[in-house]
Amino acid sequence: NFAERSEEQVSGAKVIAQALKTQDVEYVFGIVGIPVTEIAIAAQQLGIKYIGMRNEQAARSLPCCFWPRSHPRLGWYGKCKRELLVEACRLYTKFSARPSSIEAVPFVIEKAVRSSIYGRPGACYVDIPADFVNLQVNVSSIKHVERCMSPPISMAETSAVCTAASVIKNAKQPLLIIGKGAAYAHAEESIQKLVEQYKLPFLPTPMGKGVVPDNHPYCVGAARSRALQFADVIVLFGARLNWILHFGLPPRYQPDVKFIQVDICAEELGNNVKPAVTLLGDINAVTKQLLEEFDKTPWQYPPESKWWKTLREKMKSNEAASKELASRESLPMNYYTVFYHVQEQLPRDCFVVSEGANTMDIGRTVLQNYLPRHRLDAGTFGTMGVGLGFAIAAAMVAKDRSPGQRVICVEGDSAFGFSGMEVETICRYNLPIILLVVNNNGIYQGFDTDTWKEMLKFQDAASVVPPMCLLPNSHYEQVMTAFGGKGYFVKTPEELQKSLRQSLADTAKPSLINIMIEPQATRKTQDFHWLTRSNM
Ligand code: ADP
Ligand code: MG
Repeated sequence: NFAERSEEQVSGAKVIAQALKTQDVEYVFGIVGIPVTEIAIAAQQLGIKYIGMRNEQAARSLPCCFWPRSHPRLGWYGKCKRELLVEACRLYTKFSARPSSIEAVPFVIEKAVRSSIYGRPGACYVDIPADFVNLQVNVSSIKHVERCMSPPISMAETSAVCTAASVIKNAKQPLLIIGKGAAYAHAEESIQKLVEQYKLPFLPTPMGKGVVPDNHPYCVGAARSRALQFADVIVLFGARLNWILHFGLPPRYQPDVKFIQVDICAEELGNNVKPAVTLLGDINAVTKQLLEEFDKTPWQYPPESKWWKTLREKMKSNEAASKELASRESLPMNYYTVFYHVQEQLPRDCFVVSEGANTMDIGRTVLQNYLPRHRLDAGTFGTMGVGLGFAIAAAMVAKDRSPGQRVICVEGDSAFGFSGMEVETICRYNLPIILLVVNNNGIYQGFDTDTWKEMLKFQDAASVVPPMCLLPNSHYEQVMTAFGGKGYFVKTPEELQKSLRQSLADTAKPSLINIMIEPQATRKTQDFHWLTRSNM
């Protein structure tokens, strides 16, 4: 609070840092250069933690503040002197502005933070001209701006809640889809109650995993395609009908399936399909409204229904197929073998971060989440290169708030390459991260060493190496040992088990396990051609 000391001068950097502090920002991630360095130093002096990243893409994937409100992101402050960037960012952010004076900075930052957490959470961008940073201003000219209030909670229209409840009650083959909005809304308790009290099957989206534990008896994750294809009523709790949910269209869904959309963003309602009912509001509040409505007349979905039987059978056969693949003893290992061994040792409370193609897709079917907001992946835009940034942010929080908690970051070899130098960041801050690089020598698929050598016998690499191939047998673990962490190169299930056990036991150092798998390994055979990658 600068107010009392009127004659005193203060630097622009300090005003900026104080504005962040006032908004309860705890962590700032960045890449410094002149003059951003001054802001980072000023932030540290106020007790904000500053984490210096190596790759801008990884840095930009990060929240300016990760806590206390899930994942809001705030833009970083550039030294760009053009209006252009503010305009360019407007397309991708909820709020993009450049304060007109240093005095305006606290107001603009408050608005950016508020915009990022109110309504649908999202990124905001504040562009601060370079010459503001070293400006000296009179303390009394900086007006105090208060911390923004917590987001107001909105509830759905009562009549819509009534209609939704009756549509669900009359469903023959109901399905709840739990998306990341449910995780953001901290709706775990109410949704779990809804699932259990009314015995409804549910399916989590990748980042909705853990809102209700993956091993819950009503989780039908293992029969995902079947559940989507034959459900007659689907309730979407904070999940958009985008490519991840196949736009809500046939052949993935019944043509006449009734969607009930629960979302905080009105503009989302009705995207791609005409919903039967829309419930506009905060998921936690709306779920409680639904529970109250259901409570009026005793009811539950019959556990002996044909629908449950179909789903259970499909889950059983899918799980058996995965287990069969996992139990194969041939070397190199396949994806399933790797993930089953990882799953066996996965600590219950760990964060799981994942990116890659098959690595992410297959990984999320095997690796279980038991807690909400503990899974981060390339999600909505399928962007590679964000995984290490996510892992670093999660690890900062873990380190400060629950010592001993680990972040398991599962990367494809190609995905790892995007931000691989962040391993230096991980080691610099000694973060509790175990990196698993699932290495198939390529993007989607690669070649083994012999094929590689054969191919290059008479020709130059750029003329013959397929675009998907990466150098076979790369020792990615040495990226970790280069900075003082532990590195393991593993080829067998035994080596994998042992190195993971050691990594988990060694809480003093981060580690990277480079897991060699069959270069041509793929997913298990899918039932329909439209389930293959090209039609994803
Ligand atoms: P997923 O990848 O899990 O399907 P999406 O990002 O597609 O998740 O969708 C998340 C949805 O959740 C968005 O449409 C967003 O508006 C909504 N949402 C976010 N927070 C809340 C909340 N507190 N209450 C209701 N809906 C929310
Ligand atoms: Mg690969």
